[in-house]
Amino acid sequence: MNARMDADCKKHAVNLSSYFDGELHGNALAKLESHLESCTACQGELETYNKIRKALIYFATGSQKGKPPGKSNPAQDGGEDEPTQK
Ligand SMILES: [Zn+2]
Repeated sequence: MNARMDADCKKHAVNLSSYFDGELHGNALAKLESHLESCTACQGELETYNKIRKALIYFATGSQKGKPPGKSNPAQDGGEDEPTQK
């Protein structure tokens, strides 16, 4: 695959995140969509956004389900909070 970004891509890349968030409308949306159809580089960029978002959702839901971040497992803490037994 010969995916490289040219100057046109850089122009569109600015709008990619808005497009991904569904915040791109009208002429800008039409231009970006027609560019995406023929540009594998920008399609790749969009895919990257997808992966990042999935990862973010994964971490967000993961930390909600599990323990709050920052609270370490006391069994593996091995440290300063340990009660002294002298
Ligand atoms: Zn492009």
